[in-house]
Amino acid sequence: MPGDLNYREDWPAWIRERLGRTFNCPFCKKRHHLPIKKIVEAPGAINRVDLLVKELGINHKKALVLSDEVTYQVAAKTVAKNLSSLMRVVSLVLRPQQEKRLSAREEYINSILQAGKDCGLLVTVGTGTITDLGKYAGHLTGVPVITVATAASMNAYTSPVAALFQGGLKVARPVKPALAVVIDSEIIRSAPLALTRAGFADSLARGNANADWYLGCLLSDQKYCPLSALLVEQAERKYFHAGRKLTRKDASTIKAVMQGLTMGGFSMLLAGSSAPASGGEHLISHFWDMYGHYHRRQVFAYHGLQVGLGTLVTAHIYDRLKVLSPEEMRARLNTFQPDTSAELSRIGYLLPFSKQAIECQWRQKRKKIAFARRRLARNWARIVRDIFPEVHSAAEIKQALDQAGCPTAPEEIGISPALTVQAIELSRYLRDRLTILDIAAESGILQEMLREDLKEWL
Ligand SMILES: [Zn+2]
Ligand SMILES: [Zn+2]
Repeated sequence: MPGDLNYREDWPAWIRERLGRTFNCPFCKKRHHLPIKKIVEAPGAINRVDLLVKELGINHKKALVLSDEVTYQVAAKTVAKNLSSLMRVVSLVLRPQQEKRLSAREEYINSILQAGKDCGLLVTVGTGTITDLGKYAGHLTGVPVITVATAASMNAYTSPVAALFQGGLKVARPVKPALAVVIDSEIIRSAPLALTRAGFADSLARGNANADWYLGCLLSDQKYCPLSALLVEQAERKYFHAGRKLTRKDASTIKAVMQGLTMGGFSMLLAGSSAPASGGEHLISHFWDMYGHYHRRQVFAYHGLQVGLGTLVTAHIYDRLKVLSPEEMRARLNTFQPDTSAELSRIGYLLPFSKQAIECQWRQKRKKIAFARRRLARNWARIVRDIFPEVHSAAEIKQALDQAGCPTAPEEIGISPALTVQAIELSRYLRDRLTILDIAAESGILQEMLREDLKEWL
């Protein structure tokens, strides 16, 4: 990194001054653009959405307010009433269809498009599912979106991706981000503790996801920018050790978690992909989502809680890998080859509806892995020196989760040890992006860890 740039500034504040602007990056020297024009963060902010709409210069005659049954009562009703002084408002309250709890299935998009016909503004009022469905609908129609946060539960409010169930896969679709974000601190603070815990756990993925991204860049020809990492790392310092305060619903801790999530979305905006906030730990959670969806018609737990467990797993993997010398890594790569065709047929058996989509992802990834294997041993010393220190140890992650009252073992959210082993072994087949799961599997470390009793290390 250039000089002491990373310690000189309050990067989250610095980036917020650049909302809606294009600017020169002090790190990668490229020009970054932040398409989000405004973030309104205040108590009672849901009563001032009309002022925001005026300020943004949106003067269309009709708006769609999207929510679910809970968030309609909590905030969408108020937002709709407030906006009706400016324009006609259509409220769409989504209810689960053919599933127990509403999830971001592509099947809901049609009803959103239908309800939003002739609307020149889409306001999402909810957490991940509502936000992602709304952003995706806005992306398809070109209608600007304002996201209204109802809990500090994940980072979709500011991110340029929508996590959707699409064609049998849980995918992160690139979408146009929101034009503005409304964070009503009273609503965020009174949200159920389980949701705030989920946001806390989701944001703990920061170090691992970013390290995976950096690793992927080093082992391919992509460009890495440290600004993404700095934004979230500086935000994280305010809540990483504050789990106990979070369980008491301490206002400043919840605010800090929300800031971490906001910066998580920004980190993706700067990178132009979900990579800085979504690595191997997210793949493990996606695997559980897909399995849960297919076999039980619902996911196991909130996204963030599953990601927290995935982060604990990948932190253990980083712990194991960081003690390997370049010579050991070279010897392993020379003598070991994973049995990918057996693994592919196993995942195809477990997730039959996604078989084709997975095979397609794997065809892309196989080429990247072949290239990465050639670079890995040569770059190993640099990887251990530059990348691994960004990752918290498994002991630190476990303590942080524990203090916040988040699950630290998959069984706590109904995931069996067998399903945990399958997720760790096979989730790397779900997406073509390189992560630490690939490095561990290609070097045989992953297989060794899975031969041990899970209780020994997880
Ligand atoms: Zn940059
Ligand atoms: Zn996440």
